[in-house]
Amino acid sequence: MTEPLVRVENLTKHFPIRKGMLIERVVGAVQAVDSISFTIERGETLGMVGESGCGKTTAGRTLLGLYPATSGRTIIDGHSVHEARGSELMQVRRKAQMIFQDPYASLNPRWTVNSIVSEPLRVHKLLPNQKARNERVKELLELVGLNARHINRFPHEFSGGQRQRIGIARALASEPLFIVCDEPISALDVSIQAQVVNLLEKLQDQLGLTYLFVAHDLSMVRHICDRVAVMYLGIMVELAERDELYENPLHPYTKALLSAVPVPDPRKERERKRVILTGDVPSPINPPSGCRFHPRCPIAVERCKVDVPEWRELKPGHHVACHLAEN
Ligand code: SF4
Repeated sequence: MTEPLVRVENLTKHFPIRKGMLIERVVGAVQAVDSISFTIERGETLGMVGESGCGKTTAGRTLLGLYPATSGRTIIDGHSVHEARGSELMQVRRKAQMIFQDPYASLNPRWTVNSIVSEPLRVHKLLPNQKARNERVKELLELVGLNARHINRFPHEFSGGQRQRIGIARALASEPLFIVCDEPISALDVSIQAQVVNLLEKLQDQLGLTYLFVAHDLSMVRHICDRVAVMYLGIMVELAERDELYENPLHPYTKALLSAVPVPDPRKERERKRVILTGDVPSPINPPSGCRFHPRCPIAVERCKVDVPEWRELKPGHHVACHLAEN
């Protein structure tokens, strides 16, 4: 067995809450991500799903080193992301990239497409001169389905889908092995979403890329991902192969999420039973004791209020954090 490309070990990210005018004190912490662990094999797509605010975007940014980790670590292609310095850090940055949720906000409006896409080429000193960089930018634009003649246009001259393609071209410029796709389609029109997903799949086949695909659209995740991790209030509650997770969810939260996904077959759709979760997602500043899901869980028992559920492998490759889950 080869070593997974990405190994995340007990990764934790807490944002301190500070108070005080003259002397600042730390009075608490937003526990955005708490001790998550998983691996991603080379060429694999791991989906990460959960309601907004569950910590999936913070997890993606922290594991890439865009936020310092509170504890834990990420190893990408043998390099420890949070410990790397100097040339090793540059190498990690080159190998691991991010595609952002909002193509409108993630591109500098005052830069041409050429400047935007060639920036990683300049930073990583990948090509000897501007002429070579211009040629490479044109190749990258064509690779993502854009017209290379538009190299000197500005972001506002493109549609939303085209801007996301510019973001993808920029991510590809440093020839990465691994890309965190942070809700890459949620800001786009529904009609454009499938095109961008198809492009990501085509690039994965062509370039052998590995993805972490962060999303809340469970239908799209089923389409693109090999395995799926479910997050709730900063922790991972379930992880399994895609079909196993969709056909045999074990955690009550996953069951509730999946029960909300419409089924194409009208007969099955009529029979579909919705699990309605009551109450709001609790605050990550002071998460519930025991199982974090217990105030909303339809099958919670007394023990759930006190004991933190263990992360158990109930079937090969199918992990869950719930006292009552059984195979
Ligand atoms: Fe529900 Fe208890 Fe399982 Fe948590 S541990 S999901 S509260 S049954």
